[in-house]
Amino acid sequence: MPEASHAAWWYWGPFLAAFAVIGFWETFAPLRASPVSTPRRWLLNALLMASTNAAQVIVLRSSPGLVALAVSSSGLGLMPKLPWPPAALWLLTILALDFIRYAQHWLMHRVGLLWRIHQVHHADPHYDMTTGLRFHPLESVLVNGSYLAAIALLAPPVAAVLAVEAAAAVQALFAHANADLPAPLERWVRRVWVTPTLHRVHHSADRCEQNRNFGMLFPIWDRLLGTYLAAPSLPARTMPIGLAELSLTQSSSLLAMLTLPVRRPPLRRP
Ligand SMILES: [Zn+2]
Repeated sequence: MPEASHAAWWYWGPFLAAFAVIGFWETFAPLRASPVSTPRRWLLNALLMASTNAAQVIVLRSSPGLVALAVSSSGLGLMPKLPWPPAALWLLTILALDFIRYAQHWLMHRVGLLWRIHQVHHADPHYDMTTGLRFHPLESVLVNGSYLAAIALLAPPVAAVLAVEAAAAVQALFAHANADLPAPLERWVRRVWVTPTLHRVHHSADRCEQNRNFGMLFPIWDRLLGTYLAAPSLPARTMPIGLAELSLTQSSSLLAMLTLPVRRPPLRRP
């Protein structure tokens, strides 16, 4: 069983490796040109990532791996009561946790108050791997707080939770890559895994396209629940990205982003 002291490395190890690999990919095969200076965008997105991490440490003081470890030794939770083989419990964990992420993301777009918070992620006027790090600190507390509660309720196998953490760390960067897989690979991978080409549709400035492709790891939830969209209506290289109501200056300001949820008048409702 993984030790508590190693839990964080299941996130940071894959994250740092993916950051290096996807950074090279985006640099040598960029799909779109950024409308604002890259150092400025990366600084803002890094500051927002630091604020979401700080909010989690201050408010939640825990991580999915630690909650899974704690609940596994308590004898509580639903999944240990299932008379299933370990492989089936692993599969159930991976699917259940990914579906929870899908449902959380769908709610962020459906509930007005949550959309105000989630707008910070969509306000990025460009799309590269650092877009996947850019959230309002309130979003990290709400999303991760409810995720931790679900893990406490389910008590899934600890190693399966850590495997999802590792996949999520890589996927936050990969799904937002400013690059496309070669077409033949894209056709196969998108059947089972969310690709940058698929998730980019969700960052279109078009409101209908923003309400498509909510999935984190697997596109199966979008396909089953009718929110799947294979391609945007405009070419991916030139389609407008971000929130049309915000200027480049506003979407590049830390203060404007932190106060976006309480902005008067609010941006349009979802
Ligand atoms: Zn979204």
